[in-house]
Amino acid sequence: MRQILVAGNWKLNGSRDSIEQLISGIVAGADKTGSTQIAVCPPFVYIPQVAERLAGSKVAWGSQDVSDQDSGAFTGEVSAPMLNEFNCTYAIVGHSERRSLYAEDDAFTARKFAAARKAGLIPILCVGETLEEREQGVTESVVARQLDAVINLEGVEALNDAVIAYEPVWAIGTGKTATPQQAQDMHAFIRGTLAGLNAGVADKVQILYGGSVKGANAAELFAMADIDGGLIGGASLDASEFLTICSAGA
Ligand code: PEP
Repeated sequence: MRQILVAGNWKLNGSRDSIEQLISGIVAGADKTGSTQIAVCPPFVYIPQVAERLAGSKVAWGSQDVSDQDSGAFTGEVSAPMLNEFNCTYAIVGHSERRSLYAEDDAFTARKFAAARKAGLIPILCVGETLEEREQGVTESVVARQLDAVINLEGVEALNDAVIAYEPVWAIGTGKTATPQQAQDMHAFIRGTLAGLNAGVADKVQILYGGSVKGANAAELFAMADIDGGLIGGASLDASEFLTICSAGA
């Protein structure tokens, strides 16, 4: 039985004060979210603050990105071993904003995935199609290609220690959510693809849905057979909305 995981991606938002308030609100309600696993991914510089506040709580934390390198002359990068020093559990890799705004391709994303795993972090591998790709009818081949890049580099067993987030790009930050059935169809496609390679991995891996999830639509999404929680952007910046989403999985 897979547990529901709800992970907040705060993106480029927050300040010391606003994060203090957000974390206080989340911690105050986290124990009332049943068996749902919860994580938050702040901007890098706020990870120490979040780590200090969340230590000992049920809420885990992670990064929104990670370098494919461990150390060296890579200005501006933050490595997986560094994130480990701040007890991060998760590292998001291949978010569509990294792919589209910073031209990060499948091969680069796969190397980030590998670097995170090597350091003991759990990568949250984001996959998903653009609106144009959906309209062209290539949604499944795009997602299969994104998964293959990781599987070819690391082997399918690597997904035993990873989370997948299916995030249709057209649903991110747009207010347009995939219908529960649209999301379920793609989650079933992902799990079926993995099952063709390793049934145990397919059965175990948590596949999150991301794209305009809110308190009002989380329960019907999380009730679908192959949806194991959500990666939440905008709605994770409001403690009470985020906790409502967490409770939807309980
Ligand atoms: C995201 O950034 O991963 C995301 C799903 O954003 P939003 O919930 O705002 O659509």
